[in-house]
Amino acid sequence: MTSEPTPATPQNGHITAEDLRIATLGAARITSPLAPLLDARRTTEHYVDTHDRVLLDDTAAGLEARGLPIGDLPGLEPCGPRREIYFDPSKTRAGIVTCGGLCPGLNDVISGLVRTLTYHYGVRRVVGFRNGYQGFISSYGYDVVELTPESVRDIPVDGGTALGTSRGPQDPEEIVDALEQTHLNILFVIGGDGTLRGAMEIERVIRERNLRIAVVGIPKTIDNDIPYIDQSFGFQTAFSRASESIRAVTVEAKSTANGVGLVKLMGRHSGFIACYASLVRSDADAVLIPEVPFSLDGDTGLLAHLHRRVEQRGHAVVVVAEGAGQELFDSDGATDASGNARLSDVGPYLRERIAESFAEAGTETSLRYIDPSYAIRSVPANPYDSVYTVRLSQAAVHAAMSGRTAMVVGRVRRRFVHIPMALAVSRRNQVDPHGDLWMAVLESTGQPWRFGG
Ligand code: ATP
Ligand code: MG
Repeated sequence: MTSEPTPATPQNGHITAEDLRIATLGAARITSPLAPLLDARRTTEHYVDTHDRVLLDDTAAGLEARGLPIGDLPGLEPCGPRREIYFDPSKTRAGIVTCGGLCPGLNDVISGLVRTLTYHYGVRRVVGFRNGYQGFISSYGYDVVELTPESVRDIPVDGGTALGTSRGPQDPEEIVDALEQTHLNILFVIGGDGTLRGAMEIERVIRERNLRIAVVGIPKTIDNDIPYIDQSFGFQTAFSRASESIRAVTVEAKSTANGVGLVKLMGRHSGFIACYASLVRSDADAVLIPEVPFSLDGDTGLLAHLHRRVEQRGHAVVVVAEGAGQELFDSDGATDASGNARLSDVGPYLRERIAESFAEAGTETSLRYIDPSYAIRSVPANPYDSVYTVRLSQAAVHAAMSGRTAMVVGRVRRRFVHIPMALAVSRRNQVDPHGDLWMAVLESTGQPWRFGG
């Protein structure tokens, strides 16, 4: 993932399907040992369709070079500087706001935006709004922060966001009042699905008032749950840090007789961090994600699996995403300030149930439980995510200066592209229980497709 193979370009035009054919030793006739496990689910989606192909050309230019008609193929606009721009840089004022939970890389985005606006375009005024959407609302009394390349130079060293953040709804009319009073031409919003929905409301009011203000988003989600984009910024930092917690709990579990380690990781609706972090060293005996419901009891349940692992290996390690196993609880319908459902805390619940079941079996154990979520959210971006966020912020500036609005920047198949905001919030990216990532986790942990059948 850190290596970046050369993207397919029109230079691929001379390569034929024959050049890409893979040699085989002959027809494959033996049933895979995975078959009983997978077919028990009466599903064939885990298997690769042998006729399927990953296309070599993934741009309109590449297809054109091959002499293929493009027609109305859906395609994403590439990011990058345009020869003609919409805003006159000498008269342009830009604003930046960060909302929602912390995520590694927020400060890199802020500083990348300020630098590109200032150095590349010569924009003279860039301001930051404090503490999320509250920063626009006069009753909170926050002044805007003047941002210059000098003032943002060192902020990426720290995690968090130099501008502050908040949750909770604010009136979009009042936000646009503030944009008008500040004479802003461009607003950059850095935040998750809620923030982007808020940004769409702001953009609607801007349109209704016939204003010429561009709203461009840089999507933030530590859970990697934004659809279409390959990976969100901060995700790699997050799962690297998460893997250290798994390693720590494994060392603890191995150091005592029948030790059990339990790590709760981020992932309210999507288990990407749990999956990736668990694949780092393959220490986990069970990975639990929101996308795959599980049961604890019975021969095929999680607890029986852990007893078997402790018997075989002397210890066991469980990685659970915070949104996993919600089916085990009665929801009380509670929500946070932004209207997000409050999840039941699966970590302590599992700790209790695991401890109980070992006690009932008369197996002496010691159980170590870690919840590193806040420690992970607040770290600075690793070098990979720093590079990624800087490039995203540059792409966002080019898009905004060219007059584009109601869109976010993202990387799709290694290319930086523009994505309409409405599309970016239209659904959630989740681990496909029939896809190759979940398959990789099952192969690594040796756990069944689903605990409890
Ligand atoms: P996270 O990934 O941390 O949840 P988020 O951007 O989704 O990030 P939220 O707290 O849900 O974080 O929302 C951030 C801001 O966006 C809040 O001020 C919230 O009120 C606003 N917001 C959330 N949902 C909507 C919505 N549907 N319409 C308008 N504004 C919204
Ligand atoms: Mg959210």
